[in-house]
Amino acid sequence: MAELCLRGFLQRLRGSGELLVWRDEVDIRYGVSRILKEHDGGPAILFESVKGHELRVVGNVVSKRDRLMAATGASSDVELYKKLLDACSNPLRTKPSSDGAFMEVELSSLKELPILIHYEGDGGPYITSGIVVARDPETDFQNASFHRMMVIDDKRLVLRIVPRHLYRIYEKYRSAGKDAPVAVMIGCHPAVMLAAASSPPYGVSELHVANRLLGGRLETAMLPEVGLEVERWCEVVLVGRLLRGEIHDEGPFVDITGTYDIVRKQPVMAVDRILVRSDAMYQALLPAGSEHRVLMGFFREALIWSYTSRVAEVKAVRLTKGGCGWLHCVISIRKATEGDGKNVILAAFAAHPSLKMVVVVDDDIDVDDPSDVEWAVATRFQADRDLVVIGRVRGSSLDPSADQRTLLTTKMGIDATRTLTKPSHHFERARIPS
Ligand code: MN
Repeated sequence: MAELCLRGFLQRLRGSGELLVWRDEVDIRYGVSRILKEHDGGPAILFESVKGHELRVVGNVVSKRDRLMAATGASSDVELYKKLLDACSNPLRTKPSSDGAFMEVELSSLKELPILIHYEGDGGPYITSGIVVARDPETDFQNASFHRMMVIDDKRLVLRIVPRHLYRIYEKYRSAGKDAPVAVMIGCHPAVMLAAASSPPYGVSELHVANRLLGGRLETAMLPEVGLEVERWCEVVLVGRLLRGEIHDEGPFVDITGTYDIVRKQPVMAVDRILVRSDAMYQALLPAGSEHRVLMGFFREALIWSYTSRVAEVKAVRLTKGGCGWLHCVISIRKATEGDGKNVILAAFAAHPSLKMVVVVDDDIDVDDPSDVEWAVATRFQADRDLVVIGRVRGSSLDPSADQRTLLTTKMGIDATRTLTKPSHHFERARIPS
């Protein structure tokens, strides 16, 4: 069996005591999501006995950021930021095998998959770990991106498609009067998940980004009937079409903030084939859980690190848990000149347009400790001098306090670095000698 796949990665987690095997029977309606939530930020969990289903369920796979590093051989956040940005600018072409029969089992209905109902107000069962691949009809470019998808019936899904790369491909087919062939990969290696959660420019294939991250060792296969390339060892592949003439209500569903996103009319996918490996696992990904935040935020952290590093010596960047892993950021710097903090604030907003609040601290502050960050604000920050407020700028669609129609929001930067106009010993934490 290949090592570079979800199963190989889980085997490694098992070896390091980070895989919890859950033997009691669980229910896909709230049962699995409740257990994933209770263990959020902890071990990956493999549910061996799922009520009414043959397939096992695995969740919380990369619910800790150090698992992304383990999966890609990086030794620190900053090393993986560099690796990921480099992989996006220097993707490495894959060599797909043409072994069309690589999936052993075919199912006849989406109901045979243990697709979870996560929260009480959800519009239906939702696939949350699905990576959609589609090919530009005019070029050879194949995109891969995460989309949540709600089950409508045995063979149809409605997908949330924000106007980015997949949407562009779908529109090209639609304007030519055609359905867009797509495949959905479920249960991929974490490097593929990380690449698909990143945003390299249109024309850069996320599978090639993952292949670069894995040093050219990613194995892929072509699906002959649709001409689409997928990870060779992923657990489940749905083959189908985004229908040109059909839209459906999508939602309600919980996004990264933990609140319900609004219901929208979205494109429908007809599922023609459901292919699974023998003894397959279905991957669950808890909305608004740590894994969601880690995957969605990591590429943005890398961009913030890259942009802010141009104006100051940046030590650490963190999209915080309380800020939904998306809206708030703490950045620690080694301050060299007065005003560095404000330049870092401006660079961070330029790097990640959804960002709503930035706190800049000195490098003696732990970006992962909210109390430490607050201590810096309490002892090093003056609002009349160190606060930056920028009103009515384009922000995130996910923040319910913003205008979700125009996306206009107000952004705030807090420069909580100590001023260089006072001696530094005024700001240092007292120590007890050993
Ligand atoms: Mn893309």
